[in-house]
Amino acid sequence: MGTRGRAIVGIDVDHVIELLNRAFADEWLAYYQYWLGARVVSGPMKDAVITELMEHAADELRHAEMVSNRIIQLGGTPLTTPKLWFEKTNCGYDAPEDPFVRAIIEQNIKGEQCAIDVYHSLLAETGMKDPVTYNMAVQILQDEVEHEEDLQSLLEDLGSLLR
Ligand code: FE
Ligand code: FE
Ligand code: MG
Repeated sequence: MGTRGRAIVGIDVDHVIELLNRAFADEWLAYYQYWLGARVVSGPMKDAVITELMEHAADELRHAEMVSNRIIQLGGTPLTTPKLWFEKTNCGYDAPEDPFVRAIIEQNIKGEQCAIDVYHSLLAETGMKDPVTYNMAVQILQDEVEHEEDLQSLLEDLGSLLR
């Protein structure tokens, strides 16, 4: 851990690590929700939906890497067991029990909207007091905003087929 890099953080570092670990739990659960959703999904436009879900799964895993790198940089430890993901998560996990395209897309939209709120509030809390975490959160937030829009337009395209 870089001592100077940690020293310039102008808010409680342990608090930032805690917030990051909560986001870390969210990213793993989002990754798995997309990954499994892509495997079980059925209904119209299935192939397009699978492609989108797999792309998003890869993004969520990359987010987990980005967040864990920042946790380690700050001298923290990323959650060591999957059991802790459920204790720390902000956004929870929606099991893809209904495999119909609309149900899968809707539950992932809900997850993205939660992720947008999580990174938006992380930005508000860190601001220029922790510009490195701030910059990471901006990058992830840009992806989550794109994810929400992708899913909402998929749902729109599906609309005429589902009516
Ligand atoms: Fe994410
Ligand atoms: Fe996302
Ligand atoms: Mg996409």
